[in-house]
Amino acid sequence: MEREPSPRPSRRIGGLVQSDIRRMTRECEKVGGINLGQGICDLPTPPLVREGAIAAIRANRSTYSFPEGDLSLRREIARKLERQNGIRADPGTEIVVTVGATGAFAAAVHALLDPGDGILLFEPYYGYHLNAAILAGLEPHFLALEVPGFALREAALRAAIRPNTRAVVVCTPSNPSGKMFERSELEIVARVARERELLVITDEIYEHIRYDGREHVPPATVADLRDRTVTIMGLSKTFSITGWRLGYAVAPEPLARAITLAHDLFYVCAPTPLQHGAAQGFRAPESFFEELASDYARKRAATCEALADAGLAPIVPQGAYYVLADVSRLGYATAREAAQAILAEAGVATIPGTAFFTGAHGDRFVRVCYAKEDDVLAEACRRLRSFRG
Ligand code: PLP
Repeated sequence: MEREPSPRPSRRIGGLVQSDIRRMTRECEKVGGINLGQGICDLPTPPLVREGAIAAIRANRSTYSFPEGDLSLRREIARKLERQNGIRADPGTEIVVTVGATGAFAAAVHALLDPGDGILLFEPYYGYHLNAAILAGLEPHFLALEVPGFALREAALRAAIRPNTRAVVVCTPSNPSGKMFERSELEIVARVARERELLVITDEIYEHIRYDGREHVPPATVADLRDRTVTIMGLSKTFSITGWRLGYAVAPEPLARAITLAHDLFYVCAPTPLQHGAAQGFRAPESFFEELASDYARKRAATCEALADAGLAPIVPQGAYYVLADVSRLGYATAREAAQAILAEAGVATIPGTAFFTGAHGDRFVRVCYAKEDDVLAEACRRLRSFRG
């Protein structure tokens, strides 16, 4: 029998594959293509936020903050939650500033779930949710929402819950589908979560990026979900600061305390001077958030039109800044081959749908990210239009 090498990667990490998202970014760099693959938002950071962080660095605010984050930022977040989300949260005990929404999710699953617990993801899912859950020793369960509407049905949700399911993840607006859960769907989640005593973990990082006047409904504002929900929100996408690594989690006090402890053990705290910069961002006028949405609406329209012209039918997103495009007309056996052909021939990187689906639909789609400056996006659209496969 062959002996396993030692030291070796853990069995948990050994089961994970590096996501196609990173791979396509590298492939794209090799050929000097335009990267509409990874959700790297390369729009400029608002001056208010940038200058706030620079001032904090100049003022030497360089030491650890509290593990749950600087209190002035948590107060700003509490005001924002009440004003924009209709969520009342105590900044002293119910808000944890985290190392991105990613850090909030990792801390939440480690703090609130045990190895062997089941966690339900709606498919198409965001790969980090899946991999972070596996790394925490959880058992992922899936409920495939039907293409193209992705409606959640109560009977299907009930059928997807297994005896060991202890949590459900709601990503709204969703990466990669752009689906925004409606109040009636969240009421279904509330009913089933109450009956089965489930924890609900949300990911609302795209809350401000939504289209056609659609309202973002935070799950914690629906029925009695507030008491069993960890609301995760982020700053990466709102202020175009993906590299700053800031986000936050909101939860009832005992859950928030456990999340703080896990977050402290992993990261100690989120970067202190950047927390001061982000606090400035929450003082931005409402028009800032409206402009953000209308800028992305323009980019969505340009991208979806180009995809349609290229015969890659888009599922027009309701929110976030990704679109699933149907590549079946290209005739490739896999989405990976289709994405490779689009990169080789059009010089545009996309992500194979298999990164977001367990089932066969993965090979029908690629995901296209349009969080790009207008001129770069215009060139990418021109290339897509001329792509004939
Ligand atoms: N959650 C979702 C759904 C995302 O799409 C992303 C980034 O693409 C993240 C979280 C990452 O957030 P953060 O930069 O705050 O860790």
